[in-house]
Amino acid sequence: MTGDPERILMEASRYLVGGVNSPVRAFYKPLPLVVARGEGPYIYDVAGRRLLDHVLGYGPLILGHRHPAVLERVRSTLENGWLYGALTIDEVRLAEKILHHIYPGGLIRFVNSGTEATMLAIRLARGFTGRDKIVKFEGCYHGAHDHVLVKAGSAASHLGVPTSKGVPQAVTGLTLVAKYNDPEGLEQVFREHGDDIAAVIVEPVIGNYGVIPPRKEFLQALTSLTREYGSILIFDEVITGFRLSLGGAQEYYGIRADLVTLGKIIGGGFPIGAVAGRREIMELLTPKGPVFNAGTFNGHPVSMAAGIATIETLEKEGLNRASRAARALEEVISDTLRRRVGDYTVNRVESMLQFYIGVDRVETPLDVARADKDAYLKIHEELSRNGVLIAPSQMEALFTSIVHGDAEIELFQEAFEKAVERVARD
Ligand code: PMP
Repeated sequence: MTGDPERILMEASRYLVGGVNSPVRAFYKPLPLVVARGEGPYIYDVAGRRLLDHVLGYGPLILGHRHPAVLERVRSTLENGWLYGALTIDEVRLAEKILHHIYPGGLIRFVNSGTEATMLAIRLARGFTGRDKIVKFEGCYHGAHDHVLVKAGSAASHLGVPTSKGVPQAVTGLTLVAKYNDPEGLEQVFREHGDDIAAVIVEPVIGNYGVIPPRKEFLQALTSLTREYGSILIFDEVITGFRLSLGGAQEYYGIRADLVTLGKIIGGGFPIGAVAGRREIMELLTPKGPVFNAGTFNGHPVSMAAGIATIETLEKEGLNRASRAARALEEVISDTLRRRVGDYTVNRVESMLQFYIGVDRVETPLDVARADKDAYLKIHEELSRNGVLIAPSQMEALFTSIVHGDAEIELFQEAFEKAVERVARD
């Protein structure tokens, strides 16, 4: 698959809204990024350019591109057919594997995206508690559905206002917005609304406002307040699940949530989402209980096969290589920025990281807002000129995979030093 990226992008704009199918894809510069294929830690565009990939499909590809174990398992699944609308063995296998690591003794439901997973977890929490309100944190992203496309309105009321046209105030009025990493703020929300709060949904590590790790006291407040008020704690582990550790952020930080939403890695690069958690909550789901969920593609055979191959590979090989590569990137980025620019911050948790220019710490989304967005974008542009792809926004994370090795770190270092030098010069 070869072609002229400029021409394909022009053609794309004739048929696809904004020339893409998900907004961030419109912001790759200076290339219009049109991808032909991927292999290991690299992708190749239609003009034949090779790019070292630190986007990795926005998180799912922890084994890199086209991993042989996934390819083989998906191929043999496809040989048999690909959709039946009935139970298959692989659904049972993947469920068993995920629950073993993420929620022993719990139950799981597979859906098709992280968005569907958080939508369902919120519905389950409401069904279980008989309450309507939920709490989300400014700067956390939980997908593209109405209840979570919400930002803080007036701080005093905590009532959310829509972040998208077309989302009714009647829906967002049920979402209370609190500040991430602010235990006292959360306590106040609970003091005012506690008896009406069905659930608190949170990214245990923010991965959608760059990368922001949680404070210990914040994690403690999440568990103690939800317990005290009988609310459901939903850990949105769509990014952190099988990335921070095989048991996800729950295991990594030693915190138990009531429900966990998953996606990305558990489908090995194919569409997937899942809700896992406490048996008595999960058993409210149809067909056992009165909380509705259904889906033509739920538990899709190809996603199940890719998920099993991915988790089996991680069980065998561990996550160390991905984390080690990210640690090396962190060092390269820190060393370079320390020498070339004034204030900067690099935040990393295992194999997810992000850097910020012009700020000496990033502990909340407010800190990210103060960082120099344009400098980040320029570095992104220069990097892609030098054959390295990072997310085109500091609001996303950089990822590494278990196939990012020493050669890739060297390549990154060379490109990053050049990029920062160029940007510092301008
Ligand atoms: N939750 C989190 C934490 C995410 O990062 C994302 C996607 N980036 C979602 C939910 C939504 O997942 P999807 O894009 O698969 O709908």
